[in-house]
Amino acid sequence: MPESQAIQPHFAFLAAVETRSGESVSRCYQCRKCTNGCPLNFAMDVMPNQVMRMVQLGLEDEVLRSKTIWLCASCQTCTTRCPNDIDIAHLMDSLRQLSREAGVAAEQKIVKFHDAFLDSVRRHGRLFELGMVGQYKLTSLDLFSGTKTGIGLLKRGKLKFLPPGIKGKREIRDMFKKKKETQ
Ligand code: SF4
Ligand code: SF4
Repeated sequence: MPESQAIQPHFAFLAAVETRSGESVSRCYQCRKCTNGCPLNFAMDVMPNQVMRMVQLGLEDEVLRSKTIWLCASCQTCTTRCPNDIDIAHLMDSLRQLSREAGVAAEQKIVKFHDAFLDSVRRHGRLFELGMVGQYKLTSLDLFSGTKTGIGLLKRGKLKFLPPGIKGKREIRDMFKKKKETQ
């Protein structure tokens, strides 16, 4: 590769990711244990170990626009396998936050689902599934997928028509408020 095309490390991004996540990405030495154990690697556009290397090299745009950070299901398999004690699942979460803040999230449906889930917990103190699905469908315009499954769950009483009544709703709302104020 000609010198002019060589990748120039962009350490500011690495530092920003390490500060946000509290994870030492610099320690990754590319053993690939994370990738080999990831149950979703078949669907990812870049493998978890490649995400680590891209962060080390400061490839901010490529990382924050990747599908991988949104497809990660936070199952923590990678975290338990990493010989360097890097919590990769937590790192992926921090990358999702940075991706949203930069306005470049690749998987908008997953972002809408994520928002609907958190909104439901903020409003009701815990998840109200039917309300969350309604919000997700309206905001994502994904109106008809899963209709048959949803009707089946309703018939079997697995989905409630009313939000759950639980204690401590105000405290949970305050937690969300405090988190928003510190962002
Ligand atoms: S936490 Fe994410 S990256 Fe890690 S193994 Fe699970 S799905 Fe894969
Ligand atoms: S398991 Fe840990 S050290 Fe190995 S490639 Fe993944 S992040 Fe890097």
